[in-house]
Amino acid sequence: AAEEGFDVEDVEGAIEAAGHGPLPVLAVVGRPNVGKSTLVNRIIGRREAVVEDKPGVTRDRVTYEAEWAGRRFKVVDTGGWEQDVLGIDASVAAQAEYAIEAADAVVFVVDAKVGATDTDEAVVRLLRKAGKPVVLCANKVDGPSGEADAAYLWSLGLGEPQPVSALHGRGTGDMLDKVLEALPEAPEQSFGTAVGGPRRIALIGRPNVGKSSLLNKVAGEERVVVNELAGTTRDPVDELIELGGVTWKFVDTAGIRKRVHLQQGADYYASLRTAAAVEKAEVAVILLDASDSISVQDQRIVTMAVEAGRAIVLAFNKWDTLDEERRYYLEREIETELGQVAWAPRVNVSARTGRHMEKLVPAIETALAGWETRVPTGRLNAFLGELVAAHPHPVRGGKQPRILFGTQAGTRPPRFVLFASGFIEAGYRRFIERRLREEFGFEGTPIHISVRVRE
Ligand code: GDP
Ligand code: GDP
Repeated sequence: AAEEGFDVEDVEGAIEAAGHGPLPVLAVVGRPNVGKSTLVNRIIGRREAVVEDKPGVTRDRVTYEAEWAGRRFKVVDTGGWEQDVLGIDASVAAQAEYAIEAADAVVFVVDAKVGATDTDEAVVRLLRKAGKPVVLCANKVDGPSGEADAAYLWSLGLGEPQPVSALHGRGTGDMLDKVLEALPEAPEQSFGTAVGGPRRIALIGRPNVGKSSLLNKVAGEERVVVNELAGTTRDPVDELIELGGVTWKFVDTAGIRKRVHLQQGADYYASLRTAAAVEKAEVAVILLDASDSISVQDQRIVTMAVEAGRAIVLAFNKWDTLDEERRYYLEREIETELGQVAWAPRVNVSARTGRHMEKLVPAIETALAGWETRVPTGRLNAFLGELVAAHPHPVRGGKQPRILFGTQAGTRPPRFVLFASGFIEAGYRRFIERRLREEFGFEGTPIHISVRVRE
């Protein structure tokens, strides 16, 4: 490194930064209008307010990345709340439940000016049941005179209320310090229990693609009743299913089976549920309806799984309904609409007839293998050396930026850091990614490549 003009510390720092595993997840929950969205904006440091006054607004983005005191984590915003037919308590509880399931720690926001309501008590019961660390945020304490209001919230039995003004930023730093104490360094639920335990699958897809049918088909008699396998935690929403002689954990299956018809906010619930399932899983099996056009909603789900860095399998369902013509157009659509996951293994199935169900497990195993692939540094650099010699970066402004060396900083998914003598253009980065895939496989996994340029 030194002879190439890089500082050793610089190189180590870059590798460490790129090598971080999945981030721990913080959920922000509470009743409508207590200031959750305002607080989330504070936490993620977004300047503009995204507080929505319009009823019926659905947001497709529910998770954000944040950093405090040098630690990074994800925030799940449940501010897109919509009251539905269930009534206020049940609606708040339902949205909080999804978020809490996926979280490593929770910030429970209460409006200190209003005090604890019955709905707040309902959320407290959920939090108790979940047993996750909770930081109680007494919001709307805009000045010292509000501190007394915050103190009343001791009655919730969740420990010390943190007086905060999400609007003005008062007290948010102290609250975030508490959050960091509550958050594990690495997400426990995703990875702490992984060793020796069953692999975790999220079966996701927009409504009506056949998730529930597929789950019933694969589960059939294969449902594993005993929930006491080594390394598994008891979680009523997850289901152990034996496929191909191996036990798998399908996460958040309650969400799939639940048939609650929501008048409003259904899209929001669906996004939140998908995000929660993806966070808990190692591999996402994305179900698409082969008989129907690939939609923006399908693409959003794909993007969510890619951004979360999960292994990915594409399963095209309802294959039994396809005629010659539809099959032809589907192939064209896949090329144009799903280019971002051209590397994902694909299976064409029918939950109705059982067609190709046996291909699901090999595809999942392929994707997980790609996700965990580690390329030894020597091999990587031999490959990079040949590549750069055969296909140099285009000359820019009389200079030719060069990739000098690289290393794989992490897996799950594979993350690379490349060290370069100058700015490497996006096109060349894509070229490198393509060649890395050709050389080393990485089927079914996103890969991250970051480039450090010598000062
Ligand atoms: P959510 O429904 O829980 O996401 O709540 P919002 O973030 O949309 O906030 C609801 C209302 O409370 C908005 O009008 C905010 O401006 C206001 N609000 C949020 N935080 C504070 C605060 O710390 N102090 C005051 N005075 N108002 C706040
Ligand atoms: P979910 O909302 O994704 O859980 O979808 P469901 O499992 O409820 O399925 C939606 C509809 O598609 C139901 O009417 C199913 O019977 C139907 N369906 C599911 N899988 C298949 C399939 O492979 N072939 C056909 N023809 N219909 C299917």
